[in-house]
Amino acid sequence: MLLTVDNLRKTYTTADGPFDVLRGVSLTLAAGETLALTGESGSGKSTLLHLIGGLDTPDEGKILIDGTDLAALDDTGRARVRRGVVGVIFQQFNLIPSLRVVDNIAFQARLADTYDAQWCADLASRMGLSDHLQKYPEQLSGGQQQRVAIARTLAPRPKLILADEPTGNLDEETAGQVMDLMLGLAADTGAGLMMVTHSLSLAGRLQRRLHLAAGQLA
Ligand code: ADP
Ligand code: MG
Repeated sequence: MLLTVDNLRKTYTTADGPFDVLRGVSLTLAAGETLALTGESGSGKSTLLHLIGGLDTPDEGKILIDGTDLAALDDTGRARVRRGVVGVIFQQFNLIPSLRVVDNIAFQARLADTYDAQWCADLASRMGLSDHLQKYPEQLSGGQQQRVAIARTLAPRPKLILADEPTGNLDEETAGQVMDLMLGLAADTGAGLMMVTHSLSLAGRLQRRLHLAAGQLA
């Protein structure tokens, strides 16, 4: 199994006392599978994705990625998983303003030491960015910027793609196009995709759907 999440629990300490955001969350995702995660705002979707992406740690439960227990890794090991095995796409594009598009696309792969110029050029071409490689992010539209962010995430060839409302800042038509590209690339690379979305129509395009409510999945 590419991803196994077993009985995850997470409690935040807030001014009003402890808040149990995840109360025993379990799921699996196979290589090549696509999964939509829906839920009300504040239901813990981003928290769950952050835990799986190794950006935060659970209070209880296990996360296995490609058979490796995240909790068993030290900081270096977790960073390696975060850079190479798992790719995260956020709603905010988080591009580096001082880098040209070509170098934004290459950035993660260079960090992961898996930079492949041909693959980056292929990604740019498939994302319709070939004519924009020498531009800076601020010279691009929102849809183009998000395509750069997706190409950057896919450049290290992650086995698991985690996307947190990746098209949430785009208009419906652009969102649909970006989704097409992302699903096509995930299918071609055999990656698993777990995507948070508010849109039922986008969720409907993924193979499986899970809904997070009251700290649990259904
Ligand atoms: P979603 O992505 O589904 O909107 P989040 O995972 O971002 O939900 O947040 C779930 C709940 O946990 C929200 O009520 C949020 O305010 C709270 N929360 C998120 N992060 C923290 C934190 N670091 N400390 C305290 N509360 C948090
Ligand atoms: Mg969120």
